[in-house]
Amino acid sequence: MAYKTIIEDDIDILVAGAGLGGTGAAWEARFWGKDKKIVIAEKANMDRSGAVAQGLYAINCYMGTRWGENNPEDHVRYARMDLMGMVREDLAFDMARHVDSAVHQFEEWGLPIMKDPDTGNYMREGRWQIMIHGESYKPIVAEAAKKSADKVFNRICVTHLLMDDAQEDRVAGAVGFNVRTGDYHVFKSKTVICGAGGASNIFKPRSVGEGAGRVWYAPWSSGSAYGLMIGAGAKMTQMENRIVLARFKDGYGPVGAYFLHLKTYTQNCNGEEYESKWFPELSKMVGKAYLDTEGQHVSHKPIPTCLRNHAFINEVAAGRGPIHMITMHSFQDPHLEEVGWENFLGMTVGQAVLWAATDVDPKYENPELTTSEPYVMGSHATGCGGWASGPEDLSPPEYFWGYNRMMTVHGLFGAGDAVGGTPHAFSSGSFTEGRLAAKAACKYIDDGKGDGIVVSDEQIRNRGEQIFHPMEHYKLYRNEIVAGDVNPHYINPRQGLDRLQKCMDEYCGGVTVNYMTNEKLLNIGLKKMKIMEEDFESLAAKDVHELLRVWELKHRFLTSESVFQHTLFRKETRWPGYYYRGDHMKLDDDNWHVLTVSRRDPKTGEYTMEKAPLYHLVGEKDEMEDKGLKDIKAKEAKK
Ligand code: AMP
Repeated sequence: MAYKTIIEDDIDILVAGAGLGGTGAAWEARFWGKDKKIVIAEKANMDRSGAVAQGLYAINCYMGTRWGENNPEDHVRYARMDLMGMVREDLAFDMARHVDSAVHQFEEWGLPIMKDPDTGNYMREGRWQIMIHGESYKPIVAEAAKKSADKVFNRICVTHLLMDDAQEDRVAGAVGFNVRTGDYHVFKSKTVICGAGGASNIFKPRSVGEGAGRVWYAPWSSGSAYGLMIGAGAKMTQMENRIVLARFKDGYGPVGAYFLHLKTYTQNCNGEEYESKWFPELSKMVGKAYLDTEGQHVSHKPIPTCLRNHAFINEVAAGRGPIHMITMHSFQDPHLEEVGWENFLGMTVGQAVLWAATDVDPKYENPELTTSEPYVMGSHATGCGGWASGPEDLSPPEYFWGYNRMMTVHGLFGAGDAVGGTPHAFSSGSFTEGRLAAKAACKYIDDGKGDGIVVSDEQIRNRGEQIFHPMEHYKLYRNEIVAGDVNPHYINPRQGLDRLQKCMDEYCGGVTVNYMTNEKLLNIGLKKMKIMEEDFESLAAKDVHELLRVWELKHRFLTSESVFQHTLFRKETRWPGYYYRGDHMKLDDDNWHVLTVSRRDPKTGEYTMEKAPLYHLVGEKDEMEDKGLKDIKAKEAKK
């Protein structure tokens, strides 16, 4: 097929995907690499790309160390507790010790951050969350990154990483195509910082038909961070750790501001508190170290996100749904009512529109909540992603191989959803990770580690043919359509996505099976995935837009296969409420207090799985938490 090839050569740092992670990378790369060639390749337009494209109403990761609010150690303890122990503490600490400065920069660049009228400090939504007027959060941050880059290529779907033909396991850039012009783009680069994002829509969503596309994480988050890295043979970690979200029904409006700031709470259909009823049984499943309860949950500590889901899911299964968010009380206060609506207008406008369209006024009616389909990502309350090196001053030998945030492929770095084991980074933490990765990438180049890279014409030609094959395939067979889009020779990307989502849903623990799976189901699912992979060789694209959908689907496929393999490997139920291994319904610290690490051999497609040690580098005692509680009590007493 004739396509125009555009080659961008001699790049030092290629940022593949410019969400919050990628923008942080571009910004910091310019600081450490004044004379380096920095190029950004972004699937959409970086002014409105990534998970923050639609805006945010809160920055969920801010320590407030300058005001004595929290220390980075506190955040590691929080993330560890929320993730049932499973955190890369070196990476989490490293992010937390730098995140505040990123937020201060956002404010300098023009992001309006709300202030507490009493203290003048940033307005807290919760212990870690600060409130912002953030509809334009992404354009503000993108502007700084754009000014840092030599060139920005918008509308480029990056499909594969290029590999060095001279040295195995060394990255050499990336390839992709322009989703508007159909041109083939080749980026030859010494390093790649992958910020391409997590995965929505790999499990069958609750929203189907006319509602398809209304999902919690961005629908354009196609697991490309994982697809690109897995395809290049990088090791992955914690890919079983998918997340299920409690959300306002059908609009997926987030609940954080409601729970934490508006002090709303949940009840079952009978108007009863239900969570605590499930905790005694749950405590037996996960053990007292994770849920210490005698009848009631007595600890002041927040309950892990997955365990709150568990109570929700079981209460509904017991026939006492729907679960309502009790808003009517708080919404009588006109200020809180305004905050409640603005919260959605600034970041999930669809929820506000849905309520308006369906006559739901949370002042007079308590809206329904639901639990979402699972998502695979690494920056909210979950830690899927690549197995990355940590910082040299903190990381034990198993976590360190030379350069911070570098994957097991040399020269390949990650940020945001791409890095595994670092939950609760959110937007600010993802940007910070990008900064850390870029600093390390500059050092990698200065150390001469990117010298002597060879990219053969053959590799470039082969990738080009592979990328555009679905369009060729379509042209060859389009006249053999039987009816509608049914064609004996090909499947279109929508059909392929439906098939993938059904397989993930039914065999890997999606909504229709109430998040339940077991070894037998997983093995059947994996067998079906192999056949699906073969059939996906027959994907056809009638235009460039469908070609985009094909490659998004292929990235989602690689992500999904990895989730299957990891879920099969971890023989326990570590996160009840995210998913259940029906054949191992208990958390098993004797055998599984470890991180899971996988590698897919790019040549054979075979997986190898291993256990990696889980080091706890931060102690238990949280002095700031005690202090914080004292402060809150003193403030309440004053009121
Ligand atoms: P969300 O709005 O659900 O995305 O959550 C925003 C922030 O609030 C995240 O840091 C969550 O972990 C936190 N969060 C949400 N709900 C709760 C809750 N019920 N208790 C404690 N933290 C919560």
